[in-house]
Amino acid sequence: IIRSTSVVFNDGPFDSSYRENEIINRMEYALKHGEFKVYLQPKVGLDGLGIVGAEALVRWQHEDGRIVPPRDFIPLFEKNGFITELDLYVFERVCRLIKSWKDSGRTPYPIAVNISRIHLTKPDFLEELEQIAGKYGVESRYLELEITESAFLNNPGEILEVARRIKERGFVLSMDDFGTGYSSLSLLKDLPVDIIKLDKEFFQKRLNDREKIIIANVIHLAHELDIQVISEGIETAEHEAFLTEIGCNLAQGYRYGRPAPIGEFTDLMTD
Ligand code: C2E
Ligand code: CA
Ligand code: CA
Repeated sequence: IIRSTSVVFNDGPFDSSYRENEIINRMEYALKHGEFKVYLQPKVGLDGLGIVGAEALVRWQHEDGRIVPPRDFIPLFEKNGFITELDLYVFERVCRLIKSWKDSGRTPYPIAVNISRIHLTKPDFLEELEQIAGKYGVESRYLELEITESAFLNNPGEILEVARRIKERGFVLSMDDFGTGYSSLSLLKDLPVDIIKLDKEFFQKRLNDREKIIIANVIHLAHELDIQVISEGIETAEHEAFLTEIGCNLAQGYRYGRPAPIGEFTDLMTD
């Protein structure tokens, strides 16, 4: 009886709000004490180019060693606003890394950081990014901002303005999860993005011929507009062959490397 009660208890709403409170109580402490770890996942060029950059993905490593994935805390941080602090922390860690590459005479890779939609309504977030990059002497061309496509759909006018300001400052702008929204194509018409990232959903199901034709043409169109196209979630040789078929020459996924601690990524660098 005690057992079954505890099962009900664990699944109940009380338990999830209890856990939320626990996370909220711990988050500031965790940020101060370095529990949020930045992992890097390589982005590769398929024409034998090897690594061309990386994406920073955060993990929460608790004091007891448990590593918690972003889906367990990011939605909550987006709700309570803490995500903006966390994103700035990740951005700063990335700037520090790029500075260390430059200091040791290496050619830095551009690194992408995820920027939550929550920032986009804060007028001074770009100044903050610029200030952090400046503190480490990192040129904005090494810093890529990944913003999810759906953020562009909510309030197109306002977001277009933000996109222009991002470009003015020289950051690389990337539209994440491309293809999951409905107005992807009309967005391309107006939006000054450098890169679109095809969502991993595309590669996790079998596409029919019409779908393949559409994707191949979107990629072609993007290239004509001087927009680079990268695909995420590439896991197998079959996925890779499909990319070649549709004309996508940049990829990210387990096939090339899982997100790994910064040190492991740096070990892969050749110069
Ligand atoms: P995302 O930006 O779409 O990142 C891609 C996710 O796909 C990552 O999950 C990555 O580990 C995973 N992935 C990479 N290669 C493969 C593959 O070959 N197959 C499959 N099935 N998955 C692959 P992760 O690290 O768990 O992050 C989940 C989401 O959390 C991210 O999705 C992003 O939206 C968010 N996130 C992660 N770090 C940050 C951050 O620092 N700030 C913000 N705002 N969001 C973050
Ligand atoms: Ca991303
Ligand atoms: Ca994505």
